[in-house]
Amino acid sequence: QAKAAGRNGFRVFRPEYTAQALQRLELEQDLRKALHQGELEVHYQPQFSLDDRRVTGVEALLRWRHPKHGLVLPARFIPLAEESGLIVPIGSWVLQQACRQAASWRTRVAVNVSAIQFCRADFADVVASTLAETGLSPQQLELELTESTVMRDAEESLRQLERLQALGVRIAIDDFGTGHSSLGLLRSLPIDAVKIDRSFVAGLPTSASNLALVRAILTLAEAFGLEVVAEGVETAVQQDTLSQMGCHLAQGYALAMPVSAEEMGRILERGDSNS
Ligand code: C2E
Ligand code: MG
Ligand code: MG
Ligand code: MG
Repeated sequence: QAKAAGRNGFRVFRPEYTAQALQRLELEQDLRKALHQGELEVHYQPQFSLDDRRVTGVEALLRWRHPKHGLVLPARFIPLAEESGLIVPIGSWVLQQACRQAASWRTRVAVNVSAIQFCRADFADVVASTLAETGLSPQQLELELTESTVMRDAEESLRQLERLQALGVRIAIDDFGTGHSSLGLLRSLPIDAVKIDRSFVAGLPTSASNLALVRAILTLAEAFGLEVVAEGVETAVQQDTLSQMGCHLAQGYALAMPVSAEEMGRILERGDSNS
């Protein structure tokens, strides 16, 4: 490895790069089979009302039970799924699972939607047929999109959002505040909710700037009639601070971890967060 790098303009062979690339390729090949082999699972994290600690809904979070690597989190395979286009069938499958569960639980469900899914011309049709097949009422489904997904092509996004709105499903902006054009977005697009990114929640209540940001988001949301969900609430202090600031809905490890569908069913039967 002491050899000079890039001498004569040739690429230097770096074994560690190759190993990484191979691993990626292998994981992508595995992912191609994962859906058919039943290795994908949808887990759920409850959202709570901070006013009465009741469960108000759940967020569907994808997991991959890999035969060799164990439980793999989305950060490791969603990018691969997006690059390969596999996110389209996988995303449709998640939607189907989540809607079916929510219909049987009689609860609201939030489903994360990748930009690759959202920009497809047939996306609203996929949502409509999934609702029809599962019997979930549209108001019980919330689609989570990030700011960057919506901002990719603002005009096309508006058309897509209008189709979804016509179906009666709810739209939430995920990781709100971390992307671009946050403020204009709230006014111009047909959205129902924003999720305060957990990086803002993390600093509460000591970080003055995070306090100011959260306060600003709450004020804007109120002015535009949007629901606000705080994400990544990890401590009781954060929970109390948010509650005192007028944030009514929250999600996070302090309230409940993401769990399997089975476990979620038990939590919903209990109807509260006493675990
Ligand atoms: P997200 O939609 O912002 O989901 C919240 C993430 O924060 C989840 O990570 C959740 O497990 C984690 N989380 C929840 N409470 C806490 C907390 O108190 N502290 C901390 N530090 N983290 C918390 P997860 O499940 O690993 O998912 C990561 C991201 O992967 C999601 O972020 C979402 O963007 C994406 N994702 C998950 N499922 C899907 C899916 O079905 N489709 C697509 N396209 N993306 C998905
Ligand atoms: Mg989300
Ligand atoms: Mg988020
Ligand atoms: Mg995220």
